[in-house]
Amino acid sequence: MNATVSFRPDFVPVSIEPLTESHELRFSNLPPDITTEDVQTLVEPYGIVLENTLRTSQRTASIRVDFATAKQARNAFEFLQLQEYSRGDRKFVASFANVKLRLSPADKDTLKLSWPKPTLVGWSHYPTISKAKEEAARLNGVIVKGRKIQVEFCSPSKRQKDNFAIKISNLSLETTKDEIEQLCKGHMLTTGFDKPTYASTSRETIKEEFHSFGELAFERISDSECDEGPNSHLLVVFPCEAIAQEVMKEFSSRKLGCIGHQSLEVKPVYFAQYCVSWQIFDVVRQEIERVKDGAMHYSLQYDENSRKYHIRLIAPSMKYDEFVEANAELYSLLQGKTARTDDGKIIWDDYFEMPTKALQLFLKSQANSIIPDERTRRIRLFGSKAEQKRALERLLKLLSKVRSQRHEVIVPRGSMHSLVDSRFETIQKDMGVNKVSFDLLNSKIIVRGTNEECSEIQNLVDSLNSLTIYKSGCCEICHLLPDDPKILACLHVYCTPCLRMAFGSASHGPLRCIAVTNSPSNDNSGQCLDHIPYIDEIIPPPERDRLLLSSFLAYIRNSLELFICPSIDCKAVYRTGRQGLNLHCSQCGTEICSFCQTLAHIGLSCSDMEGRNSTSY
Ligand SMILES: [Zn+2]
Ligand SMILES: [Zn+2]
Ligand SMILES: [Zn+2]
Ligand SMILES: [Zn+2]
Repeated sequence: MNATVSFRPDFVPVSIEPLTESHELRFSNLPPDITTEDVQTLVEPYGIVLENTLRTSQRTASIRVDFATAKQARNAFEFLQLQEYSRGDRKFVASFANVKLRLSPADKDTLKLSWPKPTLVGWSHYPTISKAKEEAARLNGVIVKGRKIQVEFCSPSKRQKDNFAIKISNLSLETTKDEIEQLCKGHMLTTGFDKPTYASTSRETIKEEFHSFGELAFERISDSECDEGPNSHLLVVFPCEAIAQEVMKEFSSRKLGCIGHQSLEVKPVYFAQYCVSWQIFDVVRQEIERVKDGAMHYSLQYDENSRKYHIRLIAPSMKYDEFVEANAELYSLLQGKTARTDDGKIIWDDYFEMPTKALQLFLKSQANSIIPDERTRRIRLFGSKAEQKRALERLLKLLSKVRSQRHEVIVPRGSMHSLVDSRFETIQKDMGVNKVSFDLLNSKIIVRGTNEECSEIQNLVDSLNSLTIYKSGCCEICHLLPDDPKILACLHVYCTPCLRMAFGSASHGPLRCIAVTNSPSNDNSGQCLDHIPYIDEIIPPPERDRLLLSSFLAYIRNSLELFICPSIDCKAVYRTGRQGLNLHCSQCGTEICSFCQTLAHIGLSCSDMEGRNSTSY
C-alpha cells in the first residue's frame, strides 16, 4: 500500500496519507530570473518553508520547496497549480516531489528525442590511385550493419607514391577490422580505425540535460526495434506543454558535448501508455490487434514484463484526430466496464469474496471477460461491446441463482452459547466453509445452499436449548455468565470466545457493541453502539490485519476524496484531483485520471469520456 493509515480502536481509519503526498513540492515553468526570495514570498501564505533549492537554465527555472508539513504542501499544491505568475505569461506547475504528474495531457507535452549513435571512421589503403578511386565509388552508400556508409577518396600528397587511402565514415562501433577487410577486397594494403565520434552516452546523461527545467514527468525509451538503427531515441513526457516547448526551443539548437557536439532532433508527439495485467490483456488482445492494424499514422506497441503488459500509443503531432480515436478505443478496451443493473446500480454480492470452487469455475469459463474487483466491490466486464453484453447476461444469471440459494437462519440469543462453543465449527466442517457463515453481531447464520440444507440448519438451531433469559452482567452475545469476560467502555460485558467469533465474522469496521440499553442519549432506538475496541490478546495478528485492510478498503469505497488505483491488482491510494490532472502510479506504472479515478484518457476530456462510456448495451 502506498499510504500511511491510522485506525481508531474500532478499526475505522481516521487518517489516510497517500505517500504520493509529501512536504516537498516542486514548481516548474518559472521565469529564469526568479530568485529564492521571490519564491519565498509566493509560497509563504501556504505554510512554513524550511528550505528551497532553485535550478535555472537560459529559459526557465524550477524550484523544490520543503514545507514544514504535508498539509501545507497540499495547500500550496491546490492553490498555486496553474496560477499565473505575475511576470510574463507563465503559470505555476506544481507537483509533489515523489509523484509524476501530467497536466492537461496530450497538449503536446511529449517530445521524441533522437540523436545519432556514435560511429567509427575507418581507413583502407590501395597501391594505385585508380584502384582507390574505383573502390571509393563502389563502396559509397553501401549498407553495413544497417547503416549507410560514406566513402571518399583522399587526395594524396605529392610524396605519396604507392599508398592511397579511402575514408569510410558512419560505421557502427561494433565493426571489426575483419569486416572492413572483407568489404574492401582487391589490392587492399592495410586497414585501420580512428577513435569513435564520441563515447557511448546513456539515456540518463541526456535526461540530466533537462534537469534545469524541473523534473521530468514520465520518461520512456521508445521501442527497441528503433534502437537497432543508426539513432537512439527517448520519449519524454513533461508535466505540461509549456515546459515541453521550452525544452524544444533550447535543445533544437544547443550542441551537446555528450553526443559529440551534435544537436538532438526534437519532435512533439502524442503519447499514451497503459499497463494492464495479462488477464485483461488476454481478453482484449484481438481487439488491440485490430486497433494496431488500423494504424495509418500512429504506432501501437506492446510488450510483456513480469505478467503485465505495457501498451504504448504514439502519433506525430499533426495526427491528433487519429490519435484520439485510437486512444479512445484502447481506453475502453483496457478500462472495461463496471457491471450495472438496468437501473444503473452497481452489481456486487458477497459471493464474489468467497473463494468457492464454483465461482472459480464460473470465472474460468468466462475466460476473464468477467473480473470481480474485491477492492472496489465492482465487477468489471472486458472484451468487445458484444462480448461485454454477453458477459453481463451470464453474470446476472449466476447472481440470480446465487441469491435464490442464500438463506438466513435467525439464532435466538439464548441458543448462541452452544454454537459459539464449537458447535458451529462442526457445522462448518460438515457443510463446507463457504456454505455457512455465522453473523454473530446480527445473531444469524447465513446458508448458501439448497432449501433442504437450510432446513437442516434450521432444525439444528431449533434443537439447541434456549437456556436463559438475559440478565444484566451477562454476555451480550450468548446471554450467559461471561466466560473470561471483557468489559467495554460502555460497561457491557462479552465472553472472550464470543468476541473472538464476532471479530471473525465481521467484514470490516466499525465494530459496535450490540447491547440494548435504556440510555436515552442514543438516537438509534435503544442500541448501545459503543465501539468494540480491538482487544490485543483476543484477536490473532493475521485476523487483525485482514480486518484492518478490509476496513481500509471499505473506507476508501465510501470516500469521495480518496480512491484506489484503477489497475485491478494494485492497492495504491490517491487523492481525487481536478480535471486534467493525471498521475503516474508509482506501484504499478499505470497512468491515472485523478478526476475520473480511471485509467488516463489522453486526448479526451473527462466529460467527453463519460459521454462515450455511458452508452448502455
Ligand atoms: Zn458469550
Ligand atoms: Zn455497549
Ligand atoms: Zn497502481
Ligand atoms: Zn478524467
